[in-house]
Amino acid sequence: AQRRRQPEVNIGTAGHVDHGKTTLVQALTGVWTAKHSEELKRGMTIKLGYAEGEVWYCEGAEGVEAYQPFPELCPEGTVPKLLRKVSYVDAPGHEILMATMLSGAALMDGALLVIAANERCPQPQTYEHLMALDIVGVHNIVIVQNKVDVVTPERARDNYREIKEFVKGTFAENAPIIPVSALHKVNIDAVAMAIEKFIPTPKRDPSKPPLMFIVRSFDVNKPGTTVEELKGGVVGGSLMQGVLRVGDEVEIAPGVRVEERGRVRYEPIVTEVVSLRFGELEVEEAKPGGLVAVGTKLDPAVAKADNLVGNVLGKPGHLPPVRDTLRLEYHMLERAVGTREFVKVPPPRAKEIVMLTVGTAITLGVITRVTSDEMEVRLRRPVVAWEGARVALSRQIFGRWRLVGWGVVRD
Ligand code: GDP
Ligand code: 5GP
Repeated sequence: AQRRRQPEVNIGTAGHVDHGKTTLVQALTGVWTAKHSEELKRGMTIKLGYAEGEVWYCEGAEGVEAYQPFPELCPEGTVPKLLRKVSYVDAPGHEILMATMLSGAALMDGALLVIAANERCPQPQTYEHLMALDIVGVHNIVIVQNKVDVVTPERARDNYREIKEFVKGTFAENAPIIPVSALHKVNIDAVAMAIEKFIPTPKRDPSKPPLMFIVRSFDVNKPGTTVEELKGGVVGGSLMQGVLRVGDEVEIAPGVRVEERGRVRYEPIVTEVVSLRFGELEVEEAKPGGLVAVGTKLDPAVAKADNLVGNVLGKPGHLPPVRDTLRLEYHMLERAVGTREFVKVPPPRAKEIVMLTVGTAITLGVITRVTSDEMEVRLRRPVVAWEGARVALSRQIFGRWRLVGWGVVRD
């Protein structure tokens, strides 16, 4: 019975492509999440990988052995007790998927930064993801030094020093570094223990109005479903705060795109929650933690094919404002990250096109006004943003969008 509860904390993965993020999530959960490189090759839309896992404490065991991702792994004679249900958000490490990584980071309470020991550290996306976690405010991290099975002990030690040097002076300076082989499931108990110690479940305030970032949306009806059997649109996302219950009236904003006499606007939608699901677990009430699928009375066509990604769901009248212009207090990084070469970041210019990530929403915008520390950006698509929200800023460099800075929303 203790297993039939929703996840309470979201842990992301970060790190360079092929360093073993997906393999690590599999070692922790038994689930192989979608492969972004394969999706990319086939030209499919890229989704965040997602898997639910658990951390067990083996009563009677000592040291790292006492922490296990599966109760069967507890040593003989010890008693497994479920500590936490964890959801893993597997961010893509591919350089052209930085926007997806950034929007996924909005959901993370903490992260596993995966670094392969058989390559020099830092690789471009190792550096870019560390910056991204800092910018989005994901500061509880565990560094996983992976693939130790394919390197010599000397190389493992050198790589450890490279990692130490790389994180020196950053928020990750004191993060634990756990050597593992994700493929051979070696030292995964130490990762489970580090997760317990370094990525606590954030304090939640259930009295706040519910607020959910939408990261997926679906039409769940199979072809040929009769009208009577037709289910409303389903939106998937993670609650940032508050509680959502079956029967609640909810608003989705900025909403749907409406084109009228050549003018485009977005209209918020009000609907009702008819069901709530975490994976296979059907619940009456959802709290923060994990990815929840919210069944609604929406026309399924409105929700189909991730149409509502980037929207925010909340209580009508209690959502932060929808804005089509953002005033940002901004900071540029010294150098562009994610590139192999050193690229100095010039200051932003008026009329420049930038890409912004606001929560899980990604939109282009044009800088309409800029001073040395403030800019105004007119957005191509409106977003929900509260005063004080953090926004990641990317700019096109040699044809690719690169993270170059961040801003804080001002009223
Ligand atoms: P991702 O792109 O970071 O998600 O990396 P994947 O999890 O897809 O792993 C990339 C490749 O590295 C795959 O072929 C894995 O089998 C391999 N790999 C992952 N972890 C390990 C490990 O601990 N040791 C070894 N030898 N190979 C690994
Ligand atoms: P699929 O189209 O793959 O069957 O479902 C897509 C997502 O919608 C899954 O996350 C699934 O759990 C969720 N889902 C499917 N049917 C329902 C439903 O009736 N209610 C809710 N809340 N979620 C559903």
